Amino acid sequence: MAVLGIEGTAHTVGVGVVEADPDAPGRCRVLANVRDMVRPPRPESGEAAAGIHPREAAHHHAEVGPELVRRALDEAGLEAADLDGVAFSQGPGLGPCLRVAATMARALSLRHGVPLAGVNHCVAHLEIGTGLTGADDPLLLYASGANTQVIAHVRGRYRVFGETLDIGIGNGLDKFARDNGIPFPGGPRIEQEAARVGPEALHPLPYTVKGMDLCFAGTAIAAQRLVDRGVPFPEACYSLQETAFASLVEVAERALAHTRKQELLLGGGVACNARLQEMAREMAEARGASFHCPPRPVLVDNGAMIAWTGLLKLRAEGPTAVADSAVRPYERTDAVEVTWR
Ligand code: AMP
Ligand code: MG
Repeated sequence: MAVLGIEGTAHTVGVGVVEADPDAPGRCRVLANVRDMVRPPRPESGEAAAGIHPREAAHHHAEVGPELVRRALDEAGLEAADLDGVAFSQGPGLGPCLRVAATMARALSLRHGVPLAGVNHCVAHLEIGTGLTGADDPLLLYASGANTQVIAHVRGRYRVFGETLDIGIGNGLDKFARDNGIPFPGGPRIEQEAARVGPEALHPLPYTVKGMDLCFAGTAIAAQRLVDRGVPFPEACYSLQETAFASLVEVAERALAHTRKQELLLGGGVACNARLQEMAREMAEARGASFHCPPRPVLVDNGAMIAWTGLLKLRAEGPTAVADSAVRPYERTDAVEVTWR
């Protein structure tokens, strides 16, 4: 069973093709996973760098999307009519971007008579982790641009045990980077800068854990104040990373204790960060839990995770009717009934 998945919730349009691994139940094989990302224009000197404009991102996705579908099918060695399903990111995300992905998926489905499956983007980050690593029933620390959640499967749904109350951690890093002239995505550059200094460079910043929830906007603003006061940029990057990542790992640890899950899984673009991986691994191992982190191409937004979640959903409950395929920009992780577990 081979399913093609189209991701299009925000900055990235991605197309992946996956199949179930015949030798390992619950695992998948990625046959293709191609993507392209909208890049806001580089700022003129002295001008602030631009963020993502939803309509411009949607235009970008519509322009490059069809070619990505062709490339993904070529890499997988399949024709569209050979597919057993076409999945798309139904939500949550930016409306204009979601609609482009949904339109492409409906067109492929109707043109080639292939079943359609709308899937939740956050759930897909978790499923691709279990599909590709040894994890089976993990707690997911999902740290991406727009989303930051600690998620685990309990009684039929992926429940959110903690989440950001303001911005996603990646958006916090990107905003701080942008205010310092670094174009989107800023996370990788902040990681490089932070790696130049050590623990003696840590400046105190607001550390915000409220109950099980998190806040990043104030931490990022306070990091900017450090820069404004003349603190060297790498020290501000280091302090921002250490403070924000520590709060993530604290909430994940408490959720592990509460749910008694034995596996910690990372997902989302910020999980590409080696320091976050190190902190999360250390915490998991200290608790006797196993640590799992899938490779970078499936940590960032990608089509393979949509394809795999679509495959699981199609197997369990059959296709999504076109009439039910309207996009869901605000769909929450815990609104999804998980029929395939
Ligand atoms: P996603 O929204 O899951 O596609 O992830 C994109 C986000 O991941 C952006 O906010 C990036 O800045 C962030 N990101 C990517 N690589 C890194 C990294 N090495 N360290 C921190 N953040 C990163
Ligand atoms: Mg994401």
